[in-house]
Amino acid sequence: MLTIDSLAEDLDEYLDKQQVAQVRKAYNFAEKAHQGQFRQTGEPYITHPLAVAAILAAMHMDHQCLMAALLHDVMEDTGVAKHILGKKFSAVIADLVDGVSKLENIERSRVEAQAENFQKMALAMAKDLRVILVKLADRLHNMRTLDPLEPERRRRIAKETLEIYAPIANRLGMNSIRVEFEELGFRTLYPMRSMLIEKAVKRARGNRKEVVSQIGLSLKNCLKNDAIKGEIVGREKHLYSIYDKMRTKKKTFYEIMDVYAFRIIVDNVDTCYRVLGAVHNLYKPVAGRMKDYIAIPKANGYQSLHTTLFGMHALPIEIQIRTHEMEAIANNGIAGHWLYKSQEDSENSSHARAREWLKGLLDLQRSAGNSVEFIENVKIDLFPDEVYVFTPRGDILDLAQGATPVDFAYTVHTDIGNTCVACRIDRRLAPLSSVLESGQTVEIITAPGAHPNPAWLGYVITGKARTSIRNALKTQQTSESIDLGKRLLERTLNSLDSSLDKISSRRLKKILKERGLTERDKLLEEIGLGNQMSYVIAKALLSDESDIEERPTIAQQGPFAIRGTEGLVVNYAKCCKPIPGDPIMGHVSSGRGIVIHTESCKNIADLRDKPEETMAVRWDTEIEGEFSVELRVEMEHRRGMIAILASSITDADANIERISMVERDALLSIVNITLGVADRDHLARVIRRLRTITGNNKITRVRS
Ligand code: MN
Repeated sequence: MLTIDSLAEDLDEYLDKQQVAQVRKAYNFAEKAHQGQFRQTGEPYITHPLAVAAILAAMHMDHQCLMAALLHDVMEDTGVAKHILGKKFSAVIADLVDGVSKLENIERSRVEAQAENFQKMALAMAKDLRVILVKLADRLHNMRTLDPLEPERRRRIAKETLEIYAPIANRLGMNSIRVEFEELGFRTLYPMRSMLIEKAVKRARGNRKEVVSQIGLSLKNCLKNDAIKGEIVGREKHLYSIYDKMRTKKKTFYEIMDVYAFRIIVDNVDTCYRVLGAVHNLYKPVAGRMKDYIAIPKANGYQSLHTTLFGMHALPIEIQIRTHEMEAIANNGIAGHWLYKSQEDSENSSHARAREWLKGLLDLQRSAGNSVEFIENVKIDLFPDEVYVFTPRGDILDLAQGATPVDFAYTVHTDIGNTCVACRIDRRLAPLSSVLESGQTVEIITAPGAHPNPAWLGYVITGKARTSIRNALKTQQTSESIDLGKRLLERTLNSLDSSLDKISSRRLKKILKERGLTERDKLLEEIGLGNQMSYVIAKALLSDESDIEERPTIAQQGPFAIRGTEGLVVNYAKCCKPIPGDPIMGHVSSGRGIVIHTESCKNIADLRDKPEETMAVRWDTEIEGEFSVELRVEMEHRRGMIAILASSITDADANIERISMVERDALLSIVNITLGVADRDHLARVIRRLRTITGNNKITRVRS
């Protein structure tokens, strides 16, 4: 029976005394914490964490990993707090145990989440890969002891193991664990199918026995002739892999069973290639089946030579050739990299590239000095930069690292992105520019009729979001340009005693044709964007019917009224920040529509002589919206003054956009405030309020 003493004995082989003592300390703590708890099997609960630690010890995991294994259920099942573990052991141990408990939690609440993304997320969320190793060992022991559980629960666990944990083990190259997960999971989930295949395998094995031993013998002689030392192992196919091949590759049982598989394990890389030459000499290789995973290892670090031969009676023989070191890594994956000490360095140039990847890892392990850093690097190697987040319904989306809720919204659906106005991350309101982290739940709040904000382009990172925002803005600008163009043209026509309705369609067609435009809306859009002047078009439209020589004067047509609802085609200049009530002037900037400046703005002084670029405008009496204005406040310094200023602005119903201390000396402070107001009257009200605080000190409106 497994006890802490028998475990400690095994640990003595590869850990030092002090480390073993620490593992014992963790055991004692866990035993006390789980006192009085029992497993379904009736055994004391502590037997479970102990068995988990033993699984990891067999892979020669370090003492911290074993301690975390012994303590892995104390937070979840006995309510020991994380800081207690930190105090009693170390922050690393507390983090590891916390990590395992967190995985436990999502697993319990999100079983319905898609399996593949769940695997990736589990991996991405574990900051230390040892968390995953403990979790895998935990699951392995639970799978080995499923029997006393309710059938329903047993099947759920088995399904999860096949869908989530076996692929994770595979991804980490931990073959032995993967195979055991698959065999146990298969047997539990599909007892009938696994029994039938098992029977068939047993039957087939009798027929195969003879052939297997013949091939084995001829391989042995082949190595002997070339004076190569190597170990030859016949490989049995596992039940689940047979089942999986029958199902996914649509092969019959006999097609699968008629393949004979062997592994040849040798001392060094050189020998691997010599063995390959030797077996190709023995039987004819199948063209295209030779794979050199030594030169180009798989992403999870797997290395081996694979080849298929036509053996006697033309039966296919699959051969894998690898070193002992590669074998250890193939079985234990990441855990194999961890402690395997490479002993031979018979590097020759043709194989230099072959071992680069693995060598890199092993070097790293040696130089890193601690396994945490090592494993971090392996992780970066294995997993691309992605984050995994939940929708409110529990679906998982994977997004590129650095993605924001806006990216998330567009990933869900373009319409969601286009009408998104706010978001909740883990049920709290958060800025749309927040960078998302794995494991968060993101909820997008939409409003009908909302439009994308051009500022989003500053922080979205996914192609889909970027393209969709650009498209939406363009469509929005088009329709707003048409509206504005129509208003501009109609107004000019009115001043000439005409209107759009009165223009004959024949006349309109002619004008469109002259300008190379296809439809009326295109013409209006061009006017709205500032590419065509409304009076020129009006003149052209009317020239048949009347004689208009002069450009209509402002007196005739009156300034164009700005309503505040024009959208993207009417912009307010950043330099002078005009607000309703200010005398204003329009700058028609070709392609962008109209930019509104205050009449006194220096930036439009030069434009005065270019009537084709300016436009008389006025504020509509029904003006809507909020306009930015900047104030500079000088006042004697006092405690809490920013807060006092802010609250008096809010009292005057104005919105603060920005407030900042520009200068401060012992007595005087200068504060800049950007705020949103409805018009000049509103601004005057705000300033009157501020005066009650600042006294006679200066308040000025800033215009650059
Ligand atoms: Mn457990």
